Amino acid sequence: PPAENPQVVIDAHGLPYLDPKLPVHRRVADLLARMSLAEKTGQMTQAERNALRSPGDIAAYDLGSLLSGGGSVPAPNTPEAWAKMVDAYQLRAQATRFQIPLIYGVDAVHGHNNVVGSTIMPHNIGIGAGRDPELARRTGAVTAKEVRATGVPWDFAPCVCVTRDERWGRSYEAFGEDPALVTAMETVIQGMQGAPDGRDLDRNDKVLTSAKHFVGDGGTEFGSSTTGSYTIDQGITRVTREELEAVHLAPFAEAVKRGAGTVMPSYSSLDVIGDDAGPVKMHANAEMINGVLKDRMGFEGFVISDWQAIDQIPGDYPSDVRTSVNAGLDMIMVPTNYQEFTRTLRDEVTAGRITEERIDDAVSRILTQKFRLGLFEQPYADTTHIGAVGSAAHRAVAREAVAKSQVLLKNDGAVLPLKKSQKVYVAGSNADDIGNQAGGWTVSWQGAPGRTTTGTTILEGMRKAAPGAVIDYSKDASAATDGYDVGVVVVGETPYAEGIGDVGNGHDLELSAADKAAVDTVCAAMTCAVLVVSGRPQLIGDRLGAIDSLVASWLPGTEGDGVADVLYGTRPFTGRLPVTWPKSEAQLPINVGDRSYDPQFPYGWGLTTLKRAPGGGELTLKAIGLAAKILQAAGRARSAEADELAGTARLLVQQRIGRNITEATAKPFADADHRLLSGDLTGAIAALTTAYRAA
Ligand code: BGC
Repeated sequence: PPAENPQVVIDAHGLPYLDPKLPVHRRVADLLARMSLAEKTGQMTQAERNALRSPGDIAAYDLGSLLSGGGSVPAPNTPEAWAKMVDAYQLRAQATRFQIPLIYGVDAVHGHNNVVGSTIMPHNIGIGAGRDPELARRTGAVTAKEVRATGVPWDFAPCVCVTRDERWGRSYEAFGEDPALVTAMETVIQGMQGAPDGRDLDRNDKVLTSAKHFVGDGGTEFGSSTTGSYTIDQGITRVTREELEAVHLAPFAEAVKRGAGTVMPSYSSLDVIGDDAGPVKMHANAEMINGVLKDRMGFEGFVISDWQAIDQIPGDYPSDVRTSVNAGLDMIMVPTNYQEFTRTLRDEVTAGRITEERIDDAVSRILTQKFRLGLFEQPYADTTHIGAVGSAAHRAVAREAVAKSQVLLKNDGAVLPLKKSQKVYVAGSNADDIGNQAGGWTVSWQGAPGRTTTGTTILEGMRKAAPGAVIDYSKDASAATDGYDVGVVVVGETPYAEGIGDVGNGHDLELSAADKAAVDTVCAAMTCAVLVVSGRPQLIGDRLGAIDSLVASWLPGTEGDGVADVLYGTRPFTGRLPVTWPKSEAQLPINVGDRSYDPQFPYGWGLTTLKRAPGGGELTLKAIGLAAKILQAAGRARSAEADELAGTARLLVQQRIGRNITEATAKPFADADHRLLSGDLTGAIAALTTAYRAA
């Protein structure tokens, strides 16, 4: 490739670090020994592509990485344009002395969501509702294949936060409120990266992952500052040491076991109750990053800062740089002032305030992942699978994930599934809107309503599912409502990312006035099902009485077909609440295991329209007893068969409880859910038996 700066390019041919047959650690050691301090600090720097003063700065500053922050996309925004864009930057990196490739990163948090036409998966909260680790793995594999095909080898995902208060605008980025659920869904890391030892990373359908945000991002306190801004995002997590370990650290221990290649610290501060330290910004938290993540958990990947997050550390800029790097950060997402950062970092090393060992450790960690990704051999996009971006096969996986994510909260009179012969009246703000369905982090950072990308709305999905049927639509329910068999009102949130979310509608979890009116009109006129398309529970309150069927649809993404599948019974409803559904905002934060727990729907709740047991047999009450016996005979050992039996028993109990959700049924039921996820099948059966008797 034509070099930007030919006089400085050496003939690297024959140097050991370029020999793919050598073990990675030897290649790293060889290259590191040749690098200057400036080249090393460059590797630790990640700039935003739009902030580059000139593409030549990649070589001039020896930049190790570039990112596209949300919304920073090439025009035209096609898979091919992405691959070309990344290649053009890689070409610049080839003009450096050792031709060290860039590692390009994006937030592909529910599919390759920066690219128009890609497959957009349900946001994590829906994946959590699906409770299917194998399916979660497959969604990760689809995402990775689409991302890597466009030349991007690194994804800032998954978010393994445990969301404890749904007023947080990032609640939908969490798999749920129970660390066992979050941990169980981390199979997504394998889908994206392949084997935990990193041996699959050089494949053209795998990407490096980033478990984020370390640690406690989902546990921040809600409150308003004196300036009136809400502090739940990037705020303070105040927890006991026990809660920190059991709730927030557990998913990171799992991510390390699964070989996540990078970890991103949280913007938030951690305040461990009983410690004298007071709140410490996570980007400055040496005890947690060096001590817990790297030393205790044995994390061998590299730590990438969040966007400009080191600037929030108290003190001047040199102190921000020194404190964060000494706390264990290996690469800093600068993203605009990369010149100032590299200079400051060098000065701190020269002055002895950051040791060269620390720099060498950071650079070794970064280079290790670059070698594993095969970037030295193939820095440019391998577009073999570019045709798979948004392909029918990928959309089929998303559609399955959507169907499994749907949680049937109420179903009086068995309104759902609908019959294809019924005349249906559809209304509500989210019935026919791809952008609202997909939520934040879709094409742009905040996402947007409207047809921002390709896919099927819920209304379109319904019309495809029941081709001959009369399915009329009036967004605000202003058309005549007589003569219909059933109404389907699709309400919920408009897109947002980070902060407190849904700002246009107020920070609370209230439905908009227009949506409330649509529900009231339709449910007064006919039998009605209400679907809530949102990143978190919405307050239904007393309206619940007028609603026959209620469904939590979460943010399904581009495949409205998946919602239609469960509405029309092509697939059963099997999703369960990944978070507690509150009655009122005053109840927040509310989480399973709370001392007083009186939600509208408990954690783990979800009715099923499944008629047959997962194994194919009819659901019979005898199955519970049988499951208990077999599990006892099998001791505590977990097997696919035992899992299935326990799952069957769970569905039976769920059906028996029906609407009879009381503290006596909800608590053991949620306990059973937790135990099922943790593999304590005997405990789960005991809890299910208690719930069954109470119902
Ligand atoms: C978010 C991260 C994200 C980063 C890069 C930040 O604002 O907190 O989750 O990875 O931006 O886009």
